[in-house]
Amino acid sequence: MTSRPALFASRLPGVSLYATDETPCDLDLSDNTNLWGMPPVAASLAAARAVAASRYPTPYGGDLKIALASYLGVDASMVVTGCGSDDVLDSAIRALAGPDDVIAFPTPTFSMIPVFATVSGLALAPILLNDDYTIDVDALLATRARITYLCSPNNPTSTAIAYADVERIVAESYGVVILDEAYAEFSGVSHTALLARSERLVITRTMSKAFGLAGLRVGYGAASPVLAMEIEKARGPYKVNAVAERAAVAVLGGRLEDGESQIASPRSRADPWVDETVREAVEHRERLSAELRAREFAVAPSAANFLFVPDAGAVAVAAALRARSIAVRAFDALPVFGPALRITVGPWPMMERLLAALDEIRP
Ligand SMILES: *Cc1c(COP(=O)(O)O)cnc(C)c1O
Repeated sequence: MTSRPALFASRLPGVSLYATDETPCDLDLSDNTNLWGMPPVAASLAAARAVAASRYPTPYGGDLKIALASYLGVDASMVVTGCGSDDVLDSAIRALAGPDDVIAFPTPTFSMIPVFATVSGLALAPILLNDDYTIDVDALLATRARITYLCSPNNPTSTAIAYADVERIVAESYGVVILDEAYAEFSGVSHTALLARSERLVITRTMSKAFGLAGLRVGYGAASPVLAMEIEKARGPYKVNAVAERAAVAVLGGRLEDGESQIASPRSRADPWVDETVREAVEHRERLSAELRAREFAVAPSAANFLFVPDAGAVAVAAALRARSIAVRAFDALPVFGPALRITVGPWPMMERLLAALDEIRP
């Protein structure tokens, strides 16, 4: 009898599932979503409008691509959508590299990158962030990696990469650069202009953060048409569901009715609700940073809708906040920064509640 390999020998022993604390709490400041809620136009669509749920949506989200291309100011052939930008990142890694190819990235960064890369068999080349939150450009370039991943503003540190550093990495990298701009709307900086200069750049974005649609799972990428096509091949069809596509197009300022789309102008404006909540998030980010610094917390200079606070007592502070029904994200041992808190910025009454709880915990 021939022996068969054991089914339970995991190919991914070092990978664990993404774990979140599901215990209900009054105030959830842990996941960097839009705490002002969802755009009213999306709420009314999601609640009231029937979609033809018995039919498949368009395979590659054509109307959504047109709306996103208009929002970004690029051609629709340069856009690829996905089930969240996680899906676009995963597809891009699978499409653009294979087993034993190297992926380089500053660390700490978005925790899913090592996971997607490991599942695809890539070799990881993490390069430590400098302790002033700048990246080590020379060390990243020296890896001659097949893929270099950059995240700006970076999760979890909230800090932006200097534009000149991104430019240099895009110009000089040996392989492809994936730039994750999940928080671009809060930073006031976009790198989409670099797409015209490099056929090796992929920029990913999401509707989960500024756009308030995390539950609908809509992400997208922009790249040269050749790369966008490769990523779309790896991604496969039907990844954005019909309800999500309809709501996303509406929030982007187009209309999708009975299979027809209308984009108001060649460069459409997103729903004013998005601009308004982004403006408030930025204002409250600065205000909350000042309040925390006044309490001697070492807040990183944030360009996102969350704050990063390295603190030796981070885990204990998060537990004490949880006991007061407030959730923040705690890290116990990040590279470079050690223990740290990550706190989502929201409407000011929520921030006041957080500050009051912190004053009880650390009088
Ligand atoms: C939240 C986040 C994403 C993914 O968001 P999706 O909901 O999958 O679109 C990607 N990158 C970073 C850095 C994030 O923080």
